[in-house]
Amino acid sequence: MSHLMNTYARQPVAFTHGNGSHLWDSNGKQYLDALAGIAVNTLGHAHPRFTAALSAQIGKLIHVSNVYQIPEQEQLAAKLCGLSKMQEAFVCNSGCEANEAAIKLARMYGHKQGVEIPTVIVMEKAFHGRTLATLSATGNRKVQAGFEPLVSGFVRVPYDDLAAIEQVASHTPNIVAILVEPIQGEGGIRTPDIHYLQGLRKICDQRNWLLMLDEVQCGIGRTGKWFAHQHAGILPDVMTLAKGLGSGVPIGVCLAAGRAAGTFQPGNHGSTFGGNPLASTAALTTLDIIEQDKLMANAQSMGDFLHQGFQSRLGHLPGMTEIRGQGLMLGIVLARPCGELVGRALAQGLLINVTADNVVRLLPALTFSQADAQQLLDMLCPLIADFLSQDA
Ligand SMILES: *Cc1c(COP(=O)(O)O)cnc(C)c1O
Repeated sequence: MSHLMNTYARQPVAFTHGNGSHLWDSNGKQYLDALAGIAVNTLGHAHPRFTAALSAQIGKLIHVSNVYQIPEQEQLAAKLCGLSKMQEAFVCNSGCEANEAAIKLARMYGHKQGVEIPTVIVMEKAFHGRTLATLSATGNRKVQAGFEPLVSGFVRVPYDDLAAIEQVASHTPNIVAILVEPIQGEGGIRTPDIHYLQGLRKICDQRNWLLMLDEVQCGIGRTGKWFAHQHAGILPDVMTLAKGLGSGVPIGVCLAAGRAAGTFQPGNHGSTFGGNPLASTAALTTLDIIEQDKLMANAQSMGDFLHQGFQSRLGHLPGMTEIRGQGLMLGIVLARPCGELVGRALAQGLLINVTADNVVRLLPALTFSQADAQQLLDMLCPLIADFLSQDA
């Protein structure tokens, strides 16, 4: 009997080691990893330069405390601000914490402007985490059920719908910010219209609201640019990062710029572990290797290759709805629920995920090679074709 709280329905497999996008289980069976720990293992497994940098850092310092200066954290903040054109960073340990920081920042921004009950617009099918504030911001009843009372101060609108925002604005006082994923991850790899983010930017500018982008899943090179919003050529006021930033070492960041910068003062927010020398080195090294090894270009080209491969091998099949996503953030949308594909793929040595009931989600490492991509097509296409040929 397990002594773990029953929070995950786990697959019956335990891995012992990995190399690049391959993993081995305790029986010596090999797997192709097309999930990368849900967009976390940016550099794949056991990347030699990453391993060396972390080992060296562990031999010097793992943790001190944020009551002291941490040069590695300063460097990381400067690097991320350079890449994103943001101004300042708060470093924490996960995506939900980064979003908590963003929500707290929006409330304090509102209070400073005399808004007594600051309200944040959030989206249907959004996912922002599982702390009380972030599950309240999440647009999925399953995540919220049983945890009421929810945190107040959110209003929800449909995703990718600018008119819905204008409408809610006309009858909701006290709005201070919009919190939105540039591409919805858990919601089913939903990519909005190319003008959506530009429209949100305009609305926020007109009304003095903060545009807060949750790039926890889509950020850090995954879509072929450092951050997914850069495809739209806009700048956010607040951006949150986590998953892929530390290549598996827990780290999250909330960045702010413009109107949002300078909101927090000492005592307003904090984190014991946030941005310690080990986590900051993991993130800095991840960013360095993405640059040196041109992994964003790889994400773009491998993503295009996979997109085309799936399209040509599956696109015409009855029961297929759509292949969508950007770079190495791909969703294969089927017309009916397909959760059982996860177990079938695992049995054949392939790690994938299904989200939003009917979307096969692929989030491989940014180091995914041409051979890995070919292997993924050859393993996954027959599985999906078989599944679709069976009666529901
Ligand atoms: C995973 C995820 C989160 C939550 O991150 P945790 O590290 O699990 O707290 C928040 N937002 C998005 C978009 C995510 O994909």
